[in-house]
Amino acid sequence: MEKKDILSFNYDELGASLGELGLPRYRTAQVYDWLHKKCVSSFDEMTNLSRDLRAKLNENYVLFPCHIEKKLVSCYDGTVKYLFRVMDGEYLECVVMKYKYGRTICISTQVGCKMGCAFCASGIGGFRRNLAPSEMLGQIYTAQRDLGERISRIVLMGMGEPLDNFDNVMKFLQLVSDERGLNIGMRHISLSTSGIVPRIYDLLERDLQLTLSVSLHAPNDEIRSAIMPVNKSWNVEELLTACRTYAEKTSRRISFEYAMMKDVNDTPACAEELAARLKGLLCHVNLIPANEVAEKPHARSSDESIRRFCAVLERNGVAVTVRRTLGSDINASCGQLRRKQLTEDQERGDRP
Ligand code: SAH
Ligand code: SF4
Repeated sequence: MEKKDILSFNYDELGASLGELGLPRYRTAQVYDWLHKKCVSSFDEMTNLSRDLRAKLNENYVLFPCHIEKKLVSCYDGTVKYLFRVMDGEYLECVVMKYKYGRTICISTQVGCKMGCAFCASGIGGFRRNLAPSEMLGQIYTAQRDLGERISRIVLMGMGEPLDNFDNVMKFLQLVSDERGLNIGMRHISLSTSGIVPRIYDLLERDLQLTLSVSLHAPNDEIRSAIMPVNKSWNVEELLTACRTYAEKTSRRISFEYAMMKDVNDTPACAEELAARLKGLLCHVNLIPANEVAEKPHARSSDESIRRFCAVLERNGVAVTVRRTLGSDINASCGQLRRKQLTEDQERGDRP
């Protein structure tokens, strides 16, 4: 019999599953507390359960381990980057950033990515698989255990497209915001998407109070289609209409990500066009100096271009910030560390 992924069960599912094993109801609260509040990494740590009961759990369930394969700590700002190895040998990345108000974790939602954005390292080896809810939680629980500190904010901005793994991401959000578990409020969670428009409407239906980030990166279809293939399925107009609907229905500000790439999307004319398109939309633009990726041709915009771009948006009344680059000494942008590890494994002959 295949062991069940216990960390992916919500409270009721756990209760039903333990019930099938003949365990009384009060055990559900105990086990759930060990899993999601104390964040243990093995059944043996559940010390208020008898040895027999722990053995029974071990026989029937698996507690997916996130093994820390590599850990890099930035000497500039304390940003920590983890490369985890999961059950089937795949690698995941996550980054923990330190801000004045606490720790924020950026987690992955897939191994690899299907979306094929021209500037991103995550999709270079193609798409491998979706992550289970347990594997998204595992990144947080493992980092928290390792750091000995509570993580208070989550961004789904690591490897993968969260809305392409919709059901597992929704389950993860339910688990991580559960009062009986880590209890991180939806207002402290951001989800970033490259713009899968129908799934944005699905997200709207869920009526969650999370922040929606949209990777826009261009003011028009010509530029966006050249760097983001998803734009050929849902263009800028359709995407912005979805964003407008989202902002109106939730009264939540949309956060637009805009990676500044030299001679691609960083001219003052691009800024004017962007400002015109965002007029009247409840939003905030985050300008991100693009991370240069070894396998990709784009270069980072100069500080001067970024400053000029920012000034145009401000003059047009668009709320804008230039994102501070954290962890610049540790390759903190997602996909890069995994990429490096896969190449090293290949060189050692560990991978075909
Ligand atoms: N797939 C989702 C979330 C993960 S990517 C999305 O695309 O939104 C997280 C963010 O990093 C996105 O805004 C993405 O566009 C950005 N990003 C990817 N590669 C980058 C790079 N080389 N430089 C700057 N930002 C990058
Ligand atoms: Fe995938 Fe996001 Fe990277 Fe695009 S930017 S390839 S959607 S992870």
